[in-house]
Amino acid sequence: MQIVADVGGIPGKDCRGFCKYCYFRKVKPIEPLGCRYCSPNTVGCKHCGEGVCETGSEFKPSFLVMNEIQTAMMMNQTSDKEIKVNISGGGDVSCYPQLEELVGGINQFGLKSHLGYTSGKGIDDSKMASRLMDLGVDEVTFTLFANDVGLRKEWVKDPSPEASLESAKLFAESANLYAASVIIPGVNDGEVLRKTCESLESWGAKALLLMRFANSTNQGLILGNSPIVEDVNSQSVDEFSSLVQEINNEYNLRVTGTPLGDPSINAPFIIARDGNEEYLQFLKDVTGEATIITSKLAAPFISKVFKKIGANSVNVIGTNKEIACLMTQEDFESVDLSQVKDSVIIPGRSFVHDKVAEDIFSRDGVERVVGRGPDTLSVDGELSSGFTEEEVIMEELESFRDLIDAINFFGMKPN
Ligand code: SF4
Repeated sequence: MQIVADVGGIPGKDCRGFCKYCYFRKVKPIEPLGCRYCSPNTVGCKHCGEGVCETGSEFKPSFLVMNEIQTAMMMNQTSDKEIKVNISGGGDVSCYPQLEELVGGINQFGLKSHLGYTSGKGIDDSKMASRLMDLGVDEVTFTLFANDVGLRKEWVKDPSPEASLESAKLFAESANLYAASVIIPGVNDGEVLRKTCESLESWGAKALLLMRFANSTNQGLILGNSPIVEDVNSQSVDEFSSLVQEINNEYNLRVTGTPLGDPSINAPFIIARDGNEEYLQFLKDVTGEATIITSKLAAPFISKVFKKIGANSVNVIGTNKEIACLMTQEDFESVDLSQVKDSVIIPGRSFVHDKVAEDIFSRDGVERVVGRGPDTLSVDGELSSGFTEEEVIMEELESFRDLIDAINFFGMKPN
């Protein structure tokens, strides 16, 4: 199991300046979006205000982070050997000034550390990578962008790209390197991507996550900051998904993509795929009647599952937003209410206040009940490289059972 050690930090400030593609660049002050954590009568809370902009917390002192780790260990009755500490934050963990001290402290507890999402920008000398591994870092998620010094300088704003790339190589050779690259068409795709993959393969990296660059609101930029980079047209999800498949076939690496997909195990939504109907027997009976509102990408998969189990009392509406967790009030307002049943299930993590959602779905005079579904319904490529096919299927079955519970509860039919 993992304990998350949050070291805090602010994007752009605590990572030596903004990467050119950073989703927190150009963020404008916005009204709180509303979410499931808001109090019943107030739109806005820490989560959907400063939390979503990651503007809240400077780097924390390492003794505070150690205290939080100790508390988490006491609350989890798991044997120490099974625990790994995932060090992450809002900035870049390689820029955390007390990183070696923190990793050393974790090591003294007999625990291994995982550096979660570092760009390596804080590493000016590859000896730092060796010291970190000596102190028990055995897993690193590294946003590489490209194995190209010039591109890292220009796009990641890395002051010492040679040292960062050398460190990535050392992490791959002597620990477990999970690499990631935001793909900017015309910049780090094509031959540059092939060269990067060849390096990762020869270094012995465990996996590569390709991230489609979101540059518009419907692709997920909800902080008034689109476009992040002018004149860049991101790939469509289909084009991107084909690229992920191609790269996965060509190299001896587990290549996943976000959004969509993980070709090695056919995730996400494995249970929706044709030929996998045997898993659907483990879902519960649908006794309620409801409309599921979700993202453009998830809708066809969810719809397929409910069709296959014969749940005619459920319909699924996909909005123009591609990612369900990033749906906001505007996405819900775009839904044609004539297609919506009396009970509505919205994504658990969507950014809308419960009361506002009820008002939106009742503005045609029909008083509708709105409930939230589970946080996620599958495992996205961002996480699935750490999962087996069976583990993803188990996650999906559990989430769909929770979704059916929500439908049966909020959409209960009168006897
Ligand atoms: S290191 Fe991460 S948080 Fe910092 S600017 Fe780059 S992408 Fe943003």
